[in-house]
Amino acid sequence: MIFTVAIDGPAAAGKGTISRAVAAHFGFAHLDTGLLYRAVGAKGGDPVMAARALTEADLAREGLRTLEAGQAASRVAVIPEVRAALLDFQRRFARRAGGAVLDGRDIGTVICPEAEVKLYVTASAEVRAHRRWLEVGGDEARVLAEVKERDARDMGRADAPLKAASDAMVIDTSEMAADEAVATALAVVAARLGR
Ligand code: C5P
Repeated sequence: MIFTVAIDGPAAAGKGTISRAVAAHFGFAHLDTGLLYRAVGAKGGDPVMAARALTEADLAREGLRTLEAGQAASRVAVIPEVRAALLDFQRRFARRAGGAVLDGRDIGTVICPEAEVKLYVTASAEVRAHRRWLEVGGDEARVLAEVKERDARDMGRADAPLKAASDAMVIDTSEMAADEAVATALAVVAARLGR
């Protein structure tokens, strides 16, 4: 069976939690596509060369989850040649047999416009910054500034900007507990699967 769940949205909206839960529940493979851009950003040197030569080991390196790695990722993610180098791998993953969940910024719009389910998971910048701050600590105002800076760069870039696909279902998690958001997503996927 080929079945793709595309989950897009801004940083710290809850995409990761929802994606992992959907993948585990339905036995689908999961790809966190942000990790690809984080790994390219962390490699240093020419980002286009880094994207073309990306390996499994690059994805497993430490420190890819930090705020700085997120900023570096969003800076390399504006480069069209970087995005192009990562396209085929993501498309193949999306259409692999057995079902796949991909979370990112452009899955429903560019990587897999034919996805069987498209979710756009969002929340207010303040709520997202607070959640990220609970994970990383430090100065909450700085975390909020970083979230807003990354939103602006991801939404404002010319190539594959962050936006909801016209046929995506929007889940705003600002006032939702994680289990409620997960239950909403599971119900949408189950309905599309006819279960
Ligand atoms: O989701 P995550 O915070 O790990 O993504 C890091 C950065 O990678 C994002 O801010 C965005 O600039 C970029 N990204 C992207 N397209 C994707 C996934 C991530 O441009 N599909």
